[in-house]
Amino acid sequence: MKLIRIFFWHGWNLLKKNIYSVFFLDSFTPIPSNIYIIPSQRCNAKCIMCLNWREKTPLELSFETWQLVIDELAYVAPYSKINISGGEILLPGLLQDIAFYAARRLPYTGIVTNGFLLNKEMVKKVVAAGFSNVNISIDGNSEKIVNMIRGREYAYKTTLKAMELLAKEIKRTKSHMKVIIKPIMMGLNFHELPDLVRKVQKNGLHGVYFQPIEPIYNSKQTFEELKKSSLWIQKKDKFWASQIIDELIEMKKSGFPIINEVVNLEEIKDYFELSEGKNKIFLRRCKIDLSNLFLFHGGGISFCESFPSIGNIQKNTIKEALFSQKAKAQRKLIRRCRQINTCLSTCFIQKSPLQQMKLFLMLNK
Ligand code: SF4
Ligand code: SF4
Repeated sequence: MKLIRIFFWHGWNLLKKNIYSVFFLDSFTPIPSNIYIIPSQRCNAKCIMCLNWREKTPLELSFETWQLVIDELAYVAPYSKINISGGEILLPGLLQDIAFYAARRLPYTGIVTNGFLLNKEMVKKVVAAGFSNVNISIDGNSEKIVNMIRGREYAYKTTLKAMELLAKEIKRTKSHMKVIIKPIMMGLNFHELPDLVRKVQKNGLHGVYFQPIEPIYNSKQTFEELKKSSLWIQKKDKFWASQIIDELIEMKKSGFPIINEVVNLEEIKDYFELSEGKNKIFLRRCKIDLSNLFLFHGGGISFCESFPSIGNIQKNTIKEALFSQKAKAQRKLIRRCRQINTCLSTCFIQKSPLQQMKLFLMLNK
């Protein structure tokens, strides 16, 4: 019965998305199927591709404010995929409270964590909480690379241990929770990624979802500056990197647990300009507003960070923001956004309805 309700909700929402994307009719305003909650930038890692950890007094809203938002989402977006991240979402206090409350209220709540705090006790708590998935960020397959990227000498061993503990606890409790490994592909680690996929499979975890490097989070770095840095795949490594991505494509085809579709992996090749000859990227229309919504630590409600927010959770309900004239005007601008060529993380790797469905089926297994 529950599955029928979920399919009906998503089917109707998909129809609304298709109608709205062409006619912008208010009565067909869709609900985003991926909602990202980022309640803080506080973090216990010191990653080289992120400046979140440098915030000495990060802006955070109260638990009660987020509680109201989560309660509203349970009503407005009951079957959307909720992704909660930070910062480090398992830091004790406010962040953990928000994550665990969301897991109680929303059936498809997942968290992103670096795994540093996932000791035996915390793993038991997380698995028992009913999260649909835990995404572990680990950016490589060796102590040297992972520790260097994370800026912590214990990063590799701790995260690996967390992965093992999660696999054991899920097996022990017969939990349906999925563990997804989310490495950021970059110039420093691309060569280690096929072995990371093999490790994930060996540990019985559920999948690997690759994301290409973006300009340093929470910094003013431009895409052009990123391309000149060591985080980008250097010219001398391009052929090698292209072979590695081909290897990942072959692994995907032969059944390794890679969540990206083959087309996404090809797109990552294009993003890093690894394909020979003409770049295969075609200009498309961004439709991020139909599928994604971000709720930031300062309360901003946003379709995309490159655009001003369409509301603030301290003043507006989610529904008010989504159905506002400001949101409608911004949706039209998003269709014409010229950044689509260099914006791989959110809009360029747009999940097709088929991919969305596959993910939902995986989370429901
Ligand atoms: S990338 Fe994630 S884990 Fe690393 S410092 Fe930033 S928020 Fe923390
Ligand atoms: S193309 Fe990228 S930057 Fe532009 S609206 Fe879409 S997600 Fe945002």
